[in-house]
Amino acid sequence: MRVEKKVESYTGIDVFRLVAAVLIITIHTSPLVGLSETGDFILTRIVARVAVPFFFVTSGFFLISRYHYQTAKLCAFVKKTLLIYGAAIVLYIPVNLYNGYFKMEYLLPNLIKDIVFDGTLYHLWYLPASVIGGVIAWGLVKKLDYRKAFAVAAVLYLVGLFGDSYYGVIKNVPIFSGFYALIFQVSDYTRNGIFFAPVFFIMGGFIADYSDRGENKSEIVCDQSVRKKSESKCFGLSMALMLVEGLVLHHFQVQRHDSMYVFLLPCVYFLFLVLLQFRGKRYVWLRDLSLVVYLIHPMMIVVIRMFAKVLHLQGLLVDNSVVHFLAVTVASVVFGAAAVALWGRFGRRRKKRHTDMDRAYIEINLENLAHNVAVLKAAMPSRCELMAVVKAEAYGHGMCEIAVHLDKIGVRAFAVATIDEGIRLRRCGIRGEILILGYTVPERAWELRKYDLAQTLIDYAYACRLNEQGCRVKVHVKVDTGMHRLGFDAGHHSNTHIKEILDVFAMEHFDVKGIYTHLCVADSLEEEDVLFTRQQIADFYGVLKRLKKEGIRIPKIHIQSSYGLLNYPELKCSYVRAGIALYGVLSTPDAQTKLQLDLRPVLSLKTKVVLIRFVPQGESVGYGRTFVADRDSVIAILSIGYADGFPRSLSNRAGYVLINGGCAPIVGRICMDQLAVDVTDIADVEAGMTATLIGYDGGKEIAAPVVADDAGSITNELFSRMGSRLGRIVK
Ligand SMILES: *Cc1c(COP(=O)(O)O)cnc(C)c1O
Repeated sequence: MRVEKKVESYTGIDVFRLVAAVLIITIHTSPLVGLSETGDFILTRIVARVAVPFFFVTSGFFLISRYHYQTAKLCAFVKKTLLIYGAAIVLYIPVNLYNGYFKMEYLLPNLIKDIVFDGTLYHLWYLPASVIGGVIAWGLVKKLDYRKAFAVAAVLYLVGLFGDSYYGVIKNVPIFSGFYALIFQVSDYTRNGIFFAPVFFIMGGFIADYSDRGENKSEIVCDQSVRKKSESKCFGLSMALMLVEGLVLHHFQVQRHDSMYVFLLPCVYFLFLVLLQFRGKRYVWLRDLSLVVYLIHPMMIVVIRMFAKVLHLQGLLVDNSVVHFLAVTVASVVFGAAAVALWGRFGRRRKKRHTDMDRAYIEINLENLAHNVAVLKAAMPSRCELMAVVKAEAYGHGMCEIAVHLDKIGVRAFAVATIDEGIRLRRCGIRGEILILGYTVPERAWELRKYDLAQTLIDYAYACRLNEQGCRVKVHVKVDTGMHRLGFDAGHHSNTHIKEILDVFAMEHFDVKGIYTHLCVADSLEEEDVLFTRQQIADFYGVLKRLKKEGIRIPKIHIQSSYGLLNYPELKCSYVRAGIALYGVLSTPDAQTKLQLDLRPVLSLKTKVVLIRFVPQGESVGYGRTFVADRDSVIAILSIGYADGFPRSLSNRAGYVLINGGCAPIVGRICMDQLAVDVTDIADVEAGMTATLIGYDGGKEIAAPVVADDAGSITNELFSRMGSRLGRIVK
């Protein structure tokens, strides 16, 4: 199943790429050197030093994430960067030849060293540093999570710092000088992929994962503007401190090189946050342009020099540092723009289409999901936590996408049905509690441990077998109070089994984290059902009381699922296990519940009209000829069928869809991959239009519980059967 990330337009970042490329040109042309040495130092050795880290943060922003470890993404990044690096190396061979590069002593070791760390021409070090830094950052975040990963990268940065701007401080300390001498045999500088780049890559990933602003629409506008201002202030302050730092170090001649400063870290961090404030139009070509400008500006320096020599304009074009800088910049930008235009016209392969919406797809509204979380939490007692039930692909919504968003908005407990779902959640980067509600073969105990999953103990025999595996695991004890499905028998009629539960608490390999029960008629407000439920609850608390009497410290307790919360909100438990309500719907239409919450549906189901067909009166449509046109009819064929999870029982006018603002009844039998609707009474329906099977269109709504009810089922089943063939897009 595919999940497509929302396309964000980071205008600020796009535009600053070109600014950063020009800043790098200043480093290599020193525009102010003819006017003021100090001025030039400030511009090129301090201010312009934000440029390369900015590029690292940008790469990290799009590459690094603690969620979704798709190695394919890393591989694509490495491959692309190496390809560009390879091309750049080839491009600069003539310049290397001219400089006599290939005549140097120990050519091979030097060549290897340059290719891996320093670049075969002065500016090219950035590309291998990107690859090495990206891989290190990726690995650190994956293994350690952000805080520890950042700590490790910060230590690397510190090591780099003392080989760079702060070298003078330690160069006379014998152990350090030996250490750095060793480093400098392998790499000319410490500003490379190991010491310099990782911290910025991690910074980028961190910003992407944790300050995903655009999505926080609930934030009050006023807060936003205050935050924006304080980000700008922090950037200004860090820049000022970096200027002081740089000038002081320069004054005391401490620097061996001048790429790395302490205040470069906050400076780049806040710069990036400030740039993120600018959202709007996307300028993809600026990304390409800035890359070309960066790659070819040293070539343009050579070209301008040759040009000046031929035209005898050295005095103006080379010796006047400002004019020289401007000439190189203009030449680079003009050449770059031409290259990008040519590439766009001839070179570019056809843009990859997003294919998810071509046929039939689910649309996920994450804002509504966040809204439902807030509403449910508000309805829960203050110390009770939300345990998000994301089993069965999060009721068809897409488990990873849903869980990641829930994690981002602060949900820390999850429930799944199977161990494999639990493992997948961990692989998506979910770090909180994960409880497996169903059965897991005891032999997989080591995986429960490895992935830190809590297993439900479904009865005494199972508990014994799991304990025998000899592997310490987290467990929740399930108590059967009347559902008679899973759980230790503990009805009020049976007194004998408390001993078994006591045993479990004493078992050597269990870390008992919770004890819970499940209600079986919590959705009903009929008197008889309410009495039954109250008895279930009383029995459960009875068990707890007896455990307490035996000296057991009661772990976390939980009883309610969605309807449990809605009809018995007064219960004070540690968790509510909410599934269907989280997705903004209830199991049946017109459900009566004690609490009426403003829940909003997260899922819409849509498909496309693939063709319009005219069916004359008397002709039939579909298998079994169950529909015969009683008038000349216009029929639209939609590309969705029962294999996509749309129930076949909605055939023959049992269901309808929304197209172009009108309701179109389903005619004939729903096929595996297609269905037909009657659009005779709806104006202007054309092939290519979107049809809505669940959700809103043109002021009308088809609610999922109604569809489920029409199909003789409940919303839970309808959702969880949404086939693996549907595309998924996130709104
Ligand atoms: C599926 C499940 C839930 C979630 O139920 P909803 O009615 O969807 O909220 C809670 N507890 C258990 C044990 C479950 O199996």
